[in-house]
Amino acid sequence: MNTDDINSIKALLNSPKAIVIIPHKNPDGDAIGSTLGLYHYLKKGQHNVMVIAPNDYPEFLKWMPDESSILKYETQKDDSDSYINDADIIFTLDFNSLGRIGHMEAAVSASEGIKIMIDHHQQPDDYATYMYSDATMSSTCEMVYNFIEMLGDVDKIDSDIATCLYVGIMTDTGSFRFPSTTSATHQIIGQLIEKGARNSDIHNNIYDTNSYERLQLLGRALSNLKVIPEYRTAYITLSQEELNTFNFKKGDTEGFVNYGLSLKGIVFAAIFIENQQENIIKISLRSKGDFSVNELSRQHFSGGGHTNAAGGKSDMNMKDTIEKFISILPQYEQDLKA
Ligand code: 5GP
Ligand code: MN
Repeated sequence: MNTDDINSIKALLNSPKAIVIIPHKNPDGDAIGSTLGLYHYLKKGQHNVMVIAPNDYPEFLKWMPDESSILKYETQKDDSDSYINDADIIFTLDFNSLGRIGHMEAAVSASEGIKIMIDHHQQPDDYATYMYSDATMSSTCEMVYNFIEMLGDVDKIDSDIATCLYVGIMTDTGSFRFPSTTSATHQIIGQLIEKGARNSDIHNNIYDTNSYERLQLLGRALSNLKVIPEYRTAYITLSQEELNTFNFKKGDTEGFVNYGLSLKGIVFAAIFIENQQENIIKISLRSKGDFSVNELSRQHFSGGGHTNAAGGKSDMNMKDTIEKFISILPQYEQDLKA
């Protein structure tokens, strides 16, 4: 985002606007944190601001400041459509292809609102008027902090904004341990704590709200874990029946894929989760080092993401999906072979 863009956006925001902010489908901590963080910032101007999520998100995000004001397109389509249609500005956060917002795509494409993308995924589509896209960033929340800084408004960051941005930086960096975590990330985190983010409370709210059933489901996932040592790969499967047995709720499988990656010597981990309602297998992929799960997911599983964390889906059943997964590993022999 260059100085001209920033000046144009500053000018735009100088008078009251109708603003809609959108995260991706199945929003995670960074998606909800960044949209709500930006929401609290823009509310300080005289704007009419609404966050509209494509669908619901996990319970462990439902304590964040003003979270309850978020509209969900899935269940509040009429209201959402009218906000999207009337928007002067539409911010799209934590995704870079309108395919990532599911059924909202048509309304957003049709809206004449000026589109501003803030996102850290690779290979962005070209739908936005203003694009702040940087795949080296730890999180969209870190970019929202930078965006506010570029607008010269760091001193407007209050404890609500700080709390929201802290959440997304924390969740997208695996609590500040992934390679995307830089000195700048830590400096921003320091600023956010200074401005009122209560770091220990935030960690508790996000990570220490397990239900007994979720831990049992984790137990099942771990006993389903398979290792393919010759390709330094590990994967987990969870069928719809298993999810039902443990009374699965949205977000319960968050982080499970990382257990595969924690095995000594493993550089590639996957989890395959059956979703009978959508008739797909949802896939999460993680890697260490240079092996790009973004590329693998784009090529074989209609998905994408980052080098070390990506998602995708399969329209085949679990058995065929796993067979396909195993059959493509030799294509990545150079990166994966022990
Ligand atoms: P997760 O595995 O945690 O759902 O997602 C990992 C990363 O991949 C996130 O940055 C997420 O936004 C992205 N991602 C997840 N699913 C998809 C997908 O179906 N398509 C694309 N393009 N990206 C995805
Ligand atoms: Mn993100």
